[in-house]
Amino acid sequence: AKAEGPGRSAVFDTSMYDRVRERIELEAALRAALAQNQLHVAYQPIVRLDTGRPLGAEALVRWHHPDRGAVSPAVFIPLAEEAGLIGAIGDWVREEAVRQLARWRAEGVVADDFSMSVNVSPRQLNDPDLPMIVSAELTRHGVPARALALEMTESVMVDGSSVTTRVLFELRELGVRLLVDDFGTGFSALGYLRRFPVTGVKIDRSFVSGLGQSIEDEEIVRAVVAMSHALGLSIVAEGVETRRQRDALAATGVTQGQGWLWGAAVPAPEFRERWHAGRPA
Ligand code: C2E
Ligand code: CA
Ligand code: CA
Ligand code: CA
Repeated sequence: AKAEGPGRSAVFDTSMYDRVRERIELEAALRAALAQNQLHVAYQPIVRLDTGRPLGAEALVRWHHPDRGAVSPAVFIPLAEEAGLIGAIGDWVREEAVRQLARWRAEGVVADDFSMSVNVSPRQLNDPDLPMIVSAELTRHGVPARALALEMTESVMVDGSSVTTRVLFELRELGVRLLVDDFGTGFSALGYLRRFPVTGVKIDRSFVSGLGQSIEDEEIVRAVVAMSHALGLSIVAEGVETRRQRDALAATGVTQGQGWLWGAAVPAPEFRERWHAGRPA
């Protein structure tokens, strides 16, 4: 019995039970999806704000469930973390993205300095073998390490183990770029930016959405820009949807953006079609 609307508290236990069962079902389905190649990778361009030229792309995993349709990664990534599946999913997404990047480089779809961003979860970064695996993967596909960027949340560095710290330094040693994802949403103590070999930050969409209207958001972005420049970090603004936001970002000194203004994440063939040889938006 699915409890809906008012009066649901009477069947609270039933609905709790349903939710647990639903999670177990979804988890089993996710396991099957991974085994049966039902996951896909979509690519969203990261562009120069002034010209719209693509500088890179972010690989975002997609799951099309046979009955439920598209399941949001915001739902199934946390599930995968809890179920211990994130390592397998994350490895699969990264290798797929590196393989795609190698193909696009060989075909001249992207420039030599184009970089592919892939999300990495805290658990993946706690695996001491990760640098070796990434290094072998890059070699196998003939992709230079600087063309790969790994995106991680601030929590990785704030809560990270000594293994994670070593993994980050080894990845950076390889030449892989390390970006702080959703920058600004997690922690106010920024000391980790100096302690870890981070190369850039991605300003969270929540600060970008108010640009052009909110003085506060503009001040926050200005502060992020000043600090990032002082530390030699690259900056990408996420979730840019309007020209107004783009222009406000440019006025604060941000040069790179990602968002629906230029395009959502799309499957590889569409990305190629739209962005081949740096065709601007
Ligand atoms: P994220 O890393 O912050 O990724 C950006 C999210 O914002 C994506 O949602 C993207 O589709 C969405 N987005 C991009 N441009 C715009 C815009 O202009 N406006 C708005 N409103 N949204 C925009 P998505 O694909 O649903 O991914 C959600 C989250 O799931 C990601 O957030 C990331 O944390 C996680 N995720 C996705 N793929 C992977 C993966 O392969 N591994 C791991 N560990 N996490 C992943
Ligand atoms: Ca990301
Ligand atoms: Ca992000
Ligand atoms: Ca985000």
